Amino acid sequence: MKLLQSIILSIAVIISASDRNDHKKELIMSQTEWAIALHGGAGTISRDIPDTLKEQYYSGLNEALEVGEAVLRDGGTALDAVEQVVRNLEDNPLFNAGKGSVFTSEGKHELDAAIMDGSTLTAGALTGLTTVKNPVSLARIVMEESRHIFFSGEGAEEFANQTNVERVENDYFHTERRYQQWQRTQEDTRLNRSSDIDDKNHKYGTVGAVAMDRKGNLAAATSTGGMTNKQFGRVGDVPIIGSGTFANHVAAISATGWGEQIMRNVSANTIANYMEFNNESLENAMSFVLTERLDPGDAGFIGVDAAGNISMQMNTAGMYRASLNSHGHRVVRIWVDE
Ligand code: ASP
Repeated sequence: MKLLQSIILSIAVIISASDRNDHKKELIMSQTEWAIALHGGAGTISRDIPDTLKEQYYSGLNEALEVGEAVLRDGGTALDAVEQVVRNLEDNPLFNAGKGSVFTSEGKHELDAAIMDGSTLTAGALTGLTTVKNPVSLARIVMEESRHIFFSGEGAEEFANQTNVERVENDYFHTERRYQQWQRTQEDTRLNRSSDIDDKNHKYGTVGAVAMDRKGNLAAATSTGGMTNKQFGRVGDVPIIGSGTFANHVAAISATGWGEQIMRNVSANTIANYMEFNNESLENAMSFVLTERLDPGDAGFIGVDAAGNISMQMNTAGMYRASLNSHGHRVVRIWVDE
């Protein structure tokens, strides 16, 4: 009997050792080589949107994801991936960035964008652009060619004059959908109804991307038309490095939502610091900012850490979002509980 018991025990030990080895192998094999996440804005997204519009959103998110995948799969940099993805989303009129940007209170479009390279902590940002078709690419030029980080308004346009970036008339950014949205907001403001800048029911639509490349470098980029009916010269969180956009050796983060709230809490940087200082996961750090620093309805974040882990969380009803990694794990979602 004793002999039988010891034979069974030895077999169990051998099996569990080989399990451990398999597990180790799995761990080695499962190292994420690259990862990308993107968003097209967070906020109150009605479940009743027509199926055709829903499909347009899903296909827009998928298309942008493919752009990022093509860069990273072929060994491109995280920086190239986030720039190309955000450019694609800027050109898509569904989203509030580039074409399709919201209207200011004066009936114009003023665009903000930022990009950051986590491997060098270099960054480029712009606010109040009025004629640059793809603000994210100008932000990259600021990052790479200027000795400054952040240009605003006339200075930002002047900086653009010294580059070859594509220029457009301000009404290029105009779309009927955003125009109607602005008209409704103006009407609400006139009637003292609360759909203005501090309204939690506001629909957002900023775009952003974060990525980790095959070398393990991280990058983040965000681009926006800001908030509907925003006042002259209002600057949101997006171009404020550390608020709406941040990347270092720990994580790359892009935010969307109520800019004033995101800025107050220096949100993107707080997520990365919380991870570093507390040795915490991206998931927990993001959830800390969303639940302990921000109020319900304020914001959504996408992030990737140095191991390629992705997190996309929000305290709004939804966030247009998508992600993909080198294992082929793909997520494309709109609502919080999807
Ligand atoms: N965060 C942006 C801003 O306040 C708006 C958005 O995310 O849609 O400018």
